[in-house]
Amino acid sequence: MPFVITDPCIGTKDSACVDVCPVDCIHPRKDEPEFATASMLYIHPDECIDCGACVPACPVAAIYDSPDSTPGSQKGLIEANSVFRVGDADAVAKAESLVSAHVSSHADLMAIAPTERAAAHAK
Ligand code: SF4
Ligand code: SF4
Repeated sequence: MPFVITDPCIGTKDSACVDVCPVDCIHPRKDEPEFATASMLYIHPDECIDCGACVPACPVAAIYDSPDSTPGSQKGLIEANSVFRVGDADAVAKAESLVSAHVSSHADLMAIAPTERAAAHAK
């Protein structure tokens, strides 16, 4: 079961997880052209080896250890993680569209600072 990045990454996007991932499955990296405009980072579900290294590295607790453990409010971002592919404009657009839909439908969460947002996922 792959790990999933959720909305505290929006507005944070510091790439700390990228630096510790042993299989380079988190994108876009800072050296990839999509980084400047990406709303958040995404974990490629087929490449993630479930090592767990990214979870403690994330300063805002944005990463859950499986789709099943991803809170209900964040379920829409599972597909965003799944479809995003660097170098594939359609896939990038689809992922960003899913993030936009999430942001539009979760104004309450978006109003919370990224550092506090994960704590609100369970409410
Ligand atoms: S769980 Fe491991 S392999 Fe998967 S995204 Fe995190 S650091 Fe990378
Ligand atoms: S460490 Fe967390 S906030 Fe930073 S880029 Fe990764 S998922 Fe996003």
